[in-house]
Amino acid sequence: MNSLENELSKNIEGEVHSEKEFRNFYSVDASSYIIRPKIVVIPKNEDDIIKTIKIAKKSKTTVTVRGGGTGLVGSALNNGIILDMKNFDSIKIRKNIVVVGTGVIKGKLDMELEKMKKFFPPNPSIGSFCSIGGMVGNNSSGSRSLKYGSVIDNVLEISVIDGKGKKIILPKNEKYGKKIFEKIKIDYKNFPKVSKNSSGYRIDSIESEKDSHKIIIGSEGTLGIVTSVKLKIRNIPEKRILFVVEYNSLKNCINDSITLSKTNPSAIEFVDRPTLKQIDHDFQKNTKCLLFVEYDEKIIQNEKKLTSSISGKIIKKLTKKEDIHKWWKFRDSSLHYSLKSIKKEERIPHVIEDAAVPIEKLPELFEIIEKINKKFKTKSIVYGHIGNGNLHVRLVGDRKKTELIKTIAAKYFHEIIKNSGTITAEHGDGLARSEFIKMQYGKKNYQTFQEIKRLFDPDYILNPGKIISKKSTITKNFEIL
Ligand SMILES: Cc1cc2nc3c(=O)[nH]c(=O)nc-3n(C[C@H](O)[C@H](O)[C@H](O)COP(=O)(O)OP(=O)(O)OC[C@H]3O[C@@H](n4cnc5c(N)ncnc54)[C@H](O)[C@@H]3O)c2cc1C
Repeated sequence: MNSLENELSKNIEGEVHSEKEFRNFYSVDASSYIIRPKIVVIPKNEDDIIKTIKIAKKSKTTVTVRGGGTGLVGSALNNGIILDMKNFDSIKIRKNIVVVGTGVIKGKLDMELEKMKKFFPPNPSIGSFCSIGGMVGNNSSGSRSLKYGSVIDNVLEISVIDGKGKKIILPKNEKYGKKIFEKIKIDYKNFPKVSKNSSGYRIDSIESEKDSHKIIIGSEGTLGIVTSVKLKIRNIPEKRILFVVEYNSLKNCINDSITLSKTNPSAIEFVDRPTLKQIDHDFQKNTKCLLFVEYDEKIIQNEKKLTSSISGKIIKKLTKKEDIHKWWKFRDSSLHYSLKSIKKEERIPHVIEDAAVPIEKLPELFEIIEKINKKFKTKSIVYGHIGNGNLHVRLVGDRKKTELIKTIAAKYFHEIIKNSGTITAEHGDGLARSEFIKMQYGKKNYQTFQEIKRLFDPDYILNPGKIISKKSTITKNFEIL
């Protein structure tokens, strides 16, 4: 047993592990990266977290919190102590609010809420497997975020332990809220003009001290360890209707997405031809892409609006819960389908997979993807939350050209930023994008980010290298190359 492990074991009630199997398990997530931690701590309570942070500081090591490990850009990987929050599993449902421990798995929360005919709207396609802490860490979202927003729009209160080992409840702690608010200086010119954004710190969401908790959302465990959150919940709509619309022209599909986004749908999602080929349905031979369009209110009026305004062909109109669920599963499996259709040696690590632009710039976004393919001799598989201008791009090509990946990413992000977009709308910055945050936000906003980091974590103990980053990490520590 080394001295760090000894010190942790002596002081905390939860589990401390340095066995090879544990370090290996926590060295990977759903990204293409691998980093082996020194030690894994499974805290039993908040006191354990406070002690772990203090011991880490004394031992000059770091603390990175992890939820379900479903992140796609290595945000929960690091080489110091990993904190697994699984014991923070309480769920307390009140009328329109739920107070949840951050180790709670989303699928469990969904099940408990459904019993009360309620739901928490942000719905990542990974569904059951991500944790509430990870969703807060990444400011996650999903198909229904088009109508209901991302995590940042659905949280009322956060309990967090900062890098000094101090517990803070935001926005309740007005003194701390004031300190945060005083630091916020925004250069709006360099802020993305998008409906969803998971890049950097969301200083733009803080209009007063009352919003101070929002600084934590999307901060990827770099400002504090969130132990519990108070979330807004809603009644499950009495009716939903899902249309699956077939297109043989991408241009028409883009135009329809823009038109439909003005009709208050709960979701507009896109899948391309390689993806739809994996769906168990007989599509027309020349079908290029599909839209999934869902409404959860004014069903009859919205159906009329949709049928009168689109140019695609409706191939499914679904109103039964089981049918809707079955077709959403097809859309939610897109990442899996995309992997199925690419040979292993042609999978380029997904570092540019999550950009978003203002919806009216969708034609430009598809053009940028085409430009990248032409320039770098790649192909792409594209699917995602088109109603938010957010497309997931999977590049296919010669996987061994590691040095090219950074060049492609820099080019892609440059174009995205030029079009008022964000380099990541829901998956976060992690190892893939933190070095591009300065390019995204400019010097002034980045300075504010640094000030915020210093306020919460002056010793840079918490998940170092993410968001505030001095080194290039995009192509370091790839697992598969
Ligand atoms: C197939 C697939 C589909 C996906 N689809 C979507 C999608 O539709 N929408 C979407 O938004 N994402 C999606 N994702 C990405 C990912 O699943 C989500 O971002 C998810 O919310 C991450 O949760 P997690 O518990 O796995 O977090 P982790 O990967 O464990 O951690 C993510 C980040 O949150 C931080 N974190 C974790 N717990 C805490 C805590 N208690 N306090 C502070 N910070 C914390 C970590 O340090 C890390 O920086 C998908 C992933 C996969 C593999």
